[in-house]
Amino acid sequence: MISEKVVSLVNNGSAIRAMFEEGARMAKEYGRENVYDYSLGNPSVAAPDVVRQSVIDIVNEEDPVVIHGYMNNAGYPEVREAVACHINRLHGTHFSSNNILMTVGAAGGLNVILKTLLNPGDEVLTFAPYFVEYKNYVSNYDGVLKAVRTDENTFLPVPERLEKAITSKTKALIINTPNNPTGVIYSEDVIKSIADILLKKEKEFGISIYLIADEPYRELAYDNTEVPYLTKFYHNTIVGYSYSKSLSLPGERIGYLVLPDELDDAQMIIAGAGVSNRVLGFVNAPSLMQKVIARSIDAGTDVAAYDINRKLLYDSLTSFGFECVKPQGAFYLWVKAPDGDDLAFVNAAKKYHILMVAGTGFDGPGYVRLAYCVDKAMIERSLPAFKKLAGEYKLNGD
Ligand code: PLP
Repeated sequence: MISEKVVSLVNNGSAIRAMFEEGARMAKEYGRENVYDYSLGNPSVAAPDVVRQSVIDIVNEEDPVVIHGYMNNAGYPEVREAVACHINRLHGTHFSSNNILMTVGAAGGLNVILKTLLNPGDEVLTFAPYFVEYKNYVSNYDGVLKAVRTDENTFLPVPERLEKAITSKTKALIINTPNNPTGVIYSEDVIKSIADILLKKEKEFGISIYLIADEPYRELAYDNTEVPYLTKFYHNTIVGYSYSKSLSLPGERIGYLVLPDELDDAQMIIAGAGVSNRVLGFVNAPSLMQKVIARSIDAGTDVAAYDINRKLLYDSLTSFGFECVKPQGAFYLWVKAPDGDDLAFVNAAKKYHILMVAGTGFDGPGYVRLAYCVDKAMIERSLPAFKKLAGEYKLNGD
């Protein structure tokens, strides 16, 4: 018999993956053109040309023994140096290669830092709704994930709720801005209020509380909305970054952790994270991709393409009478289930070949998530189906 933990993971499955598979089945039955799949956060924009060219150049120019070889568990020093300089240039910080650990995407980075920090029974807080995998990542190291509810209308953190949730067992708070699934971005004021509470509670309990900033969507901010760099606001901040969304490389598994010198126990955390990377079996982030990142560090993200989709979907759905949170970032639209039942709403949408993910899966019942990192033409084709869905719920559109 396999591990009980894994049995429960298998049984709970992933609502997103299940939807994605349902999409593939429906595409077979009704034709791909007639299925509107908003289930998966897989970037629809191709990686920038410089990525492709870098792959070719590295393979042609560099010593194959080196590019396909092992390295320091933290990654190539020159790649970590390039990443540190890039962050310093953008955010006025003072990191060196020593503060950067290259990871197997954001998922790899989160697992590395949670393994490094957690003892069994330690509590990790996060704001709900949240990326479903957090619970599994924390449970990998026998920690306990505790959700703190955000404001019911704005989906922003409520400081008093955070303050109440912190105990002497709190080891970390994971925050994700721009947010999956709500598309909300936390302003400097919000970040400052979180930092004040963490500092106060660190003193009160005589503990270290680490703020883990999960930032795969940092570059995906619309209308020039600022995404504050969190290490500037709180000494115990660890940043997890990924190129999965910003450079459209989710299958390549590349990202990094920022481990500042200001962290309590910084040198042990840096050493520990290197060891965790190794013993989790990642060993090091993919070699070729690290080198590609160093050459593509200044490639921008094609935010404009997602912005067109964001406006089209938000404007259309609100005009049909759906209530949506206007996304400030990421590429998800958070839509209220008209009668409050998100699971029934997802099922009703399926009748019109629309696939979306129930908010319940993100600990955000009453809402659904639409991933609009899709072909714009698919959004256009799906609009009559959304209109019919609005009709079924007797919504008053324009
Ligand atoms: N964190 C959040 C909030 C995400 O939405 C995702 C992926 O969708 C991840 C982490 C994992 O990203 P990666 O593919 O870089 O591991």
